Order: sequence, then structure tokens, then C-alpha cells
Amino acid sequence: MRATSGSSEVCHGRPKLMTNRIAANIVVTLSYTLRADDGEIIDSSDEGNPLVYLHGASNIVPGLEEELEGATEGDSIKASIPPEKGYGPRIGESQEVPRRLFPADAELAAGMQVVAHDDQGRQIPFFITGISEETVTVDPNHPLAGETLHFEVTIEALRDATEEEIAHGHPHGAGGHAH
Ligand code: ZN
Repeated sequence: MRATSGSSEVCHGRPKLMTNRIAANIVVTLSYTLRADDGEIIDSSDEGNPLVYLHGASNIVPGLEEELEGATEGDSIKASIPPEKGYGPRIGESQEVPRRLFPADAELAAGMQVVAHDDQGRQIPFFITGISEETVTVDPNHPLAGETLHFEVTIEALRDATEEEIAHGHPHGAGGHAH
């Protein structure tokens, strides 16, 4: 056996990232499972179709972004995120509004997010939770508002974001925005 020289590593593969830790302007590829307090799976990345996001750009809920800061490729992380750092506390109640308030050709579906405008032109986002022939049930809360989010995350890959991705605030390419 012979000793390897200090410089031998740089002969192999791609140049190393400036940082191999999750920080702002790093594009992160991860797989995840999200559970509710009772252990029920609410959401997960599909097998072979991981989530790709730009760190530091509010692509994911703030609490998870905090927990992932400093993590590295191959890390598995469990994090419980309170509503305040997730989708917020519940505010207000759902209500039924007439179907005719929506454009006749709008394809409405439960779970859909819609943005209304008030008299001052301010945007009011809400979620559709039910539809009947005459009425639509709308809720100002994100479906996961008020929930503690229990994540299990595995970091699959990290890379530096491009200047364009940083300017847009989201990743491009495989798993990112196509435009
Ligand atoms: Zn873009």
C-alpha cells in the first residue's frame, strides 16, 4: 500500500462545490415524507421524483428551511414544524358563497387556491374546500394551517444555483421550473 498524495482527490470527478452544506443560493434535491400529529402521511415526494428547491428563497415553509440549514448530502433529518413556522395558525372560518361569483368557465376543484380582490384591489388568497351546483365553500386557511408538520427528509443532492435561478427565486432544470 502506498500513501496517497494530498492532491490526488482533485483528479477525480467534478470540482467540489464552494460549500457542501445547505445555505442560501444552494439548489437542494430532497425526498420527504410529511405526517400529521396522528402519524398519518399527508404528503410525500414520489419515488424517483424528489423535491428540488432553492434554499433561502421561501420555496418551502420557513421552519423546514431553518431545520435544513447546514445539512449535507446524504443527511436524513426529522423535524417537527409548529404552525407558526409552517402554514400559519388557522384564521377565520370557511363560508359558502354563490357559484355565480366565479367565472362560468372556471374549472373549480376542492383544494384549489384562488385569489380574490377586495375593493382596494388587495389580493385575498383562499382555498376551495367544497363545491355544489349552486355554492362553493371557501376557506381563508391553507389546508395545513394550524397543523404541526412532522417531516422526514433525506438530502439527495446539492448544487450551486445559477445567477438566473437566484434572480427568479426558484430552481430550473430537472425538478425545477420549466420556462
Ligand atoms: Zn425561473
